[in-house]
Amino acid sequence: MGASRYKLYSEHLLKKFGEKVYKLPVNLPGTCPNRDGKVGWGGCIFCDEEGSGFECLSNVLTIRQQVAKNKEFFRKRYNAGKFIAYFQAFTNTYLPFERFKANILDALDQDVVGIAVSTRPDCVNDRYLDFLYEVKENHGVDINIELGLQTVNYHTLARVNRGHSLAEFIDSILRIKKHGFAACAHLILNLPWDDLTDTVENAKILSALNVEYVKLHSLYVVRGTTLGDMFERGEFAVISLEDYVERVGEFLAYLDPSVVIQRLVGRGPKESLLFSNWGASWWLVKQRIEEYLEQKDIYQGNKFDYLNGKALK
Ligand code: SF4
Repeated sequence: MGASRYKLYSEHLLKKFGEKVYKLPVNLPGTCPNRDGKVGWGGCIFCDEEGSGFECLSNVLTIRQQVAKNKEFFRKRYNAGKFIAYFQAFTNTYLPFERFKANILDALDQDVVGIAVSTRPDCVNDRYLDFLYEVKENHGVDINIELGLQTVNYHTLARVNRGHSLAEFIDSILRIKKHGFAACAHLILNLPWDDLTDTVENAKILSALNVEYVKLHSLYVVRGTTLGDMFERGEFAVISLEDYVERVGEFLAYLDPSVVIQRLVGRGPKESLLFSNWGASWWLVKQRIEEYLEQKDIYQGNKFDYLNGKALK
């Protein structure tokens, strides 16, 4: 296959920083307002954050220890020299302000060129963003906020018990932009109740809001979650791999070609899975998508013609 048909994250980082940059995951014990009663109980119906114990070893280490340990690993394995500290699990801005500040400052060192903070759209607030702005100014690091959105379809958001609607996402993006930071949106393109129209609207809204990065995930179903129970009772079916591949193709066609794709296929936890990637490995799904883009001659942005007064063009 020739040049990529969508905008690759690795190439983007290379261009931006002038060398290879790797994301170092930092995991903190934490919670989420959609689990502890502040916004909702029990969380999103697909959430396995509590049950899986995924990477639980690392979150007993301090942030400094995690950064040091991961740096060493990436250095040895990839000869990496620069890093983005990635606050990955749970809702990282749902922490008391002073603790949030201390965590961010702890992750900084001379090789860390960026901070990525993963959170929910209803946990983005000016006070925390103002602090991150100071960090950016004083330490010269790139700031990136990763938001779980999953879908722009607010009816589906209610059905999956997200605890926020599309409005909170739009508000958070506008605040992030006001502070001059980049935003990354996470989407699941095959949530039950969503169809191809929602896929297209996902691409159009992210493009209209000038979101810089996207991470795509296919739905995985974990035993013991509400979604898992529904799956076992046969209350919904996951769309076929062919249909999913078509959705990704359509999503990319409508997406602004300047949006960087950080991930094309998600990887679920290894345990207690009832469904994940149609029983195939993530890279096989990725390969199927790339083959489909070739066959249909789809490039990212093929159908990106709808902004700035389409009817006037
Ligand atoms: S926002 Fe994330 S951590 Fe919170 S319930 Fe949903 S999936 Fe789980």
